[in-house]
Amino acid sequence: MAHRLFIKERVLTPGPVEVPPAVLLEMAQPIIHHRTKQFQVIFEEVSKRLQRVFRTAHPVLSIAGSGTTAFEAAQASLTPPGSKAIVVAGGKFGERWQDIYDQYGITQVKVNVPWGQAVTAAQIEEALKANPDASIVALCHSETSTATACDIQAIAKVVSKSNALLLVDGITAVGAMPVEMDAWGIDCLVTGSQKAMMLPPGLGYVGLGPRALARLKATKAGPFYNLDLRRWLKAYDKNDVPFTPPVSLIRGQRVALEMMENEGMENIWARSAKLAAASRAAFSAMGLKLISESPSDSVTGAFYPTLNGEVVDDKTFRAAMRNNHGLHLAGGQDGRGANWAKTVFRISHMGYVDAGDTLAALVGIEKQFKDMGAKITHETAIPAALKVLLG
Ligand SMILES: *Cc1c(COP(=O)(O)O)cnc(C)c1O
Repeated sequence: MAHRLFIKERVLTPGPVEVPPAVLLEMAQPIIHHRTKQFQVIFEEVSKRLQRVFRTAHPVLSIAGSGTTAFEAAQASLTPPGSKAIVVAGGKFGERWQDIYDQYGITQVKVNVPWGQAVTAAQIEEALKANPDASIVALCHSETSTATACDIQAIAKVVSKSNALLLVDGITAVGAMPVEMDAWGIDCLVTGSQKAMMLPPGLGYVGLGPRALARLKATKAGPFYNLDLRRWLKAYDKNDVPFTPPVSLIRGQRVALEMMENEGMENIWARSAKLAAASRAAFSAMGLKLISESPSDSVTGAFYPTLNGEVVDDKTFRAAMRNNHGLHLAGGQDGRGANWAKTVFRISHMGYVDAGDTLAALVGIEKQFKDMGAKITHETAIPAALKVLLG
């Protein structure tokens, strides 16, 4: 085994992410019952602080489940049977939202963009023009599988002029990159607890703007129960939840949100952007090709270098990263648009991660490639990253 350069475990996957010690301690507190004043006080504070992260004056629902639960709930509740949806896919998660609508039997206009590229506002405008009867546009702000971000502000501008609602998967955008739900006119914005919200997995969040709230009022729920946002909204209006919530996660979320507010959203966005830029500079200096032409600031991905003419083996590399360096990285994903399962690795810049963690990751990655004999440029990555971090 190569000598051990790091003695800490660092989880740098784009979800789940590391949880700050203060949040872990809070979650170790005894369970309280959710139909109590004690819980209501905590829940009210969480809801208020979530609004400040989402940049909205409107409800942000906290739903038990993963990000997919929250997004499916938004899809199911905002898209009545018989309506038409425009759904963008340029990666694994956009493809998942198309799959969900297929399962619900919703007519779709599938806007597929090559993996690693961002959909443009012009493409959305064109789809809306060709489909004036579309009732919703659904897409990812940050497509985690391809580490790609699109210009949601410009897209929201286009969609707000139509009758369609804009449903945004902000699961690796909210809390990591600038997202202004009200100012930009996003109708429904979703995220999950295990990404930039610095919690373990288990909660999804759904922000609902005025047009989405009106749609919920004007339409009836389809054949689903727990996923009906009307039910969650009715409870929310009384500072309550319809079903037993993950009490410990909500306690932890209160502390994590307090930490976020103390740092300040603009400072968090700047930190993520800096770590992402440093990582991109380092990978490029190593001679690696980035997977995105429009990179997100919450996650960075690169194609593996070669080793004796073959692509470095993903399983071997990432196991060695864990065993030799305590570094947990993500691999690539496969889908209809591409198969990156064995050709790509990714690191996260979300939540409880700083320059030290990022530099540790970059040092570990270079050392591991070196020890394996992979074809990269040596000893230029860290200076390139430092130049960004010190700039
Ligand atoms: C992680 C992620 C999801 C899925 O969230 P789960 O919590 O795993 O259900 C969806 N979209 C994006 C962009 C993600 O990063």
